[in-house]
Amino acid sequence: MTRRFTEPKLVVATHNMGKFAEIERLLEGHPVELVSARALGLHEPAETETSFLGNARIKARHAVEKTGLPAVGDDSGLEIDALHGAPGVYTADWAAQPAGRDFFHAMEKTWEQLEHAQAPYPRTARFRCAAVLVWPDGHEETFEGTIEGECVHPFRGEDGHGYDPMFQPTGETRTLAEMTADEKNAISHRGEAFRKLVAACFG
Ligand code: IMP
Repeated sequence: MTRRFTEPKLVVATHNMGKFAEIERLLEGHPVELVSARALGLHEPAETETSFLGNARIKARHAVEKTGLPAVGDDSGLEIDALHGAPGVYTADWAAQPAGRDFFHAMEKTWEQLEHAQAPYPRTARFRCAAVLVWPDGHEETFEGTIEGECVHPFRGEDGHGYDPMFQPTGETRTLAEMTADEKNAISHRGEAFRKLVAACFG
């Protein structure tokens, strides 16, 4: 049976404040104090698994181990059909630059690879998200979400984070970066995974 979450505090095992803000909004209205791994000064564990679920579990378990508090880890990425599912679990790595992560660079690199592959249009892709909620006694609950869409160029929009300006959801004329936070959360992979989590554990 799914375990309900009744603790007062929950670590969100991320250093990405864009993601943290989305997760905060998705858990709004529930009596739990959220604190990010970044605010707690935790280091980011190596993401050594080859699945989103595996890496989400690594992040959550690392935060639980370091703090003794329950934690939720989320791992996500973009799977592009013409690139055989790349960048997938390496989505954040494609943004790595000597001075830190640069998502404009990552989007340019992704588009160049699509051009190189002479990928047909629409350049279909999906974001996937896995969320793992871990309690200090080791119990866990897992949830997943997906959003289908296509990669577009030129990139559009100022809002959001990561690859949002290059991803246009199916049936939409705007990219994720042209939507409000609430509009994005209503349809996004992370929104779906966390809505399932809230319904199962906070409902
Ligand atoms: P993670 O932090 O290991 O989950 O890395 C996933 C990477 O995928 C992030 O750094 C983002 O670049 C990208 N990503 C995941 N979710 C989104 C999203 O909602 N919009 C844009 N990019 C995303």
